[in-house]
Amino acid sequence: MSYRIAVGGFQHETNTFAPLPTPYANFVTGGSWPPLTEGAAVLEKFPGLNLPISGFIDADSGFDLVPLVWAATEPNGFVTADAFDRISDNLISRLLDAGPVDALYLDLHGAMVPEGFDDGEAELLNRIRSAVGPDLPIAVSLDLHGNTSQAFFELASVVTIYRTYPHIDMAETGARAASLLKTRLDHGAPLYSAWRQLDYIIPIVAQPTMRQPGGRLYGMLPGLEGGGVASVDFAFGFPPADIPDVGATVFAYGTDQTAVDAAADAMLSALRDAEDQFRDPMTEAGETVRRAMAIAADADKPVIIADPQDNPGAGAPGDSTGLLQALIDAKAENACIGMIWDPDAAAAAHAAGVGAEIDIEIGGQFPDTGGPAVACRVRVEALSDGNFTFTGPMFGGLQGALGPMAALRVVDPDCGLQIAVGTRRCQNLDQAIFRAVGIEPSDKAIVAVKSAIHFMADYEPIAADVLFAEAPGANPCRIERIAYTRLRPGVRLGPHGPVSEG
Ligand SMILES: [Zn+2]
Repeated sequence: MSYRIAVGGFQHETNTFAPLPTPYANFVTGGSWPPLTEGAAVLEKFPGLNLPISGFIDADSGFDLVPLVWAATEPNGFVTADAFDRISDNLISRLLDAGPVDALYLDLHGAMVPEGFDDGEAELLNRIRSAVGPDLPIAVSLDLHGNTSQAFFELASVVTIYRTYPHIDMAETGARAASLLKTRLDHGAPLYSAWRQLDYIIPIVAQPTMRQPGGRLYGMLPGLEGGGVASVDFAFGFPPADIPDVGATVFAYGTDQTAVDAAADAMLSALRDAEDQFRDPMTEAGETVRRAMAIAADADKPVIIADPQDNPGAGAPGDSTGLLQALIDAKAENACIGMIWDPDAAAAAHAAGVGAEIDIEIGGQFPDTGGPAVACRVRVEALSDGNFTFTGPMFGGLQGALGPMAALRVVDPDCGLQIAVGTRRCQNLDQAIFRAVGIEPSDKAIVAVKSAIHFMADYEPIAADVLFAEAPGANPCRIERIAYTRLRPGVRLGPHGPVSEG
């Protein structure tokens, strides 16, 4: 007998410090993520992609799948109550219409904060349980940046979490969710479970699994399984969220409570013991550009500079100007920066046409968090409608729909900088974003990207070096400087950081 499994997804990573909310329209459009997808189209569009739901669908589990709805969009501020209600209601009504199912699989993020609720995923599961009761097995896959609460843990039946950052294993995590759900269903009863919460917040820029201690810690997980333990996973958490349950959590499942508890405790201990090893790689933007120019002078490959605090992939607008200004001030040669979210600049470039020179102000819509607009004269070098296919390890095969884009060469002040601007916010995690406007990153001396860590998957292989600039932005990466007001008491603000009084 094959199990009948309802499948859906609702992903959002909410930065409660970001200046813009996340309305329903953002989910309808998607942008760098696929647009809101309903019913049978879920099974038609997602196979073969690096998304959790893709991995679940593609897994050789023998499940009979019933597609519901899937929605995601670029991280941003609070999900509006309207968006949360509409997508939750859509999912639940399709689940009720589906008739009897053996279980539900949900592709969730783990760090969604809708207006009025601290834990969006817990509230979604709460509403689902209200509709279908307490007994339906619900398998959830989460992003490595999930901030999870005890309420969420108690409402979900089994949870798997990405083990890489950059997230090159999204599909693999969906496949693990399918396997763990099958274990649960074959077992015929709830699995034993454990949930643990780490007592310090890990900065985003210290989290890459291509570096230590991230690689080593996530590498421990397979070794904790077996002997009554079906799975162990943990999330590093997403710091820019002013909610009580921000930070890292561990999940374990199995058929032996003692073994499950021991595995969860072992992982928590390893995370505690790694507190000394999480390093902050950021240096002041001007200093970072000077270092990059010095390295580039002797390199035959580009130096990549990340702008983590203006990472649209963490909810920042993507139009802060600190690193842009530093590149102009240093007269960086053969350099590019992008993508800067500036619909007005993109529209002006499209109106002027290729070859035109225009005086323009770039970025700076949110000067309090991102710095002032930069006035300069630019030549329009290329235009694009913003529709292209991602090619990198994380999003390869997905379609970008970033609206009108342009490549602008700064001609006054005199420097060698090209700026990629676009209309819909998108983290620069893929070289295809530059190539969409005719900029070839591998030919550059310096490539500046609006990203914190995800860029590493596609850019580190072409890089002479990778540097991290500290410039203004709405994704604060120095935890002790984040103006939290609602943290649980006792959690430390960063490794060995000050203790929250709650
Ligand atoms: Zn993430």
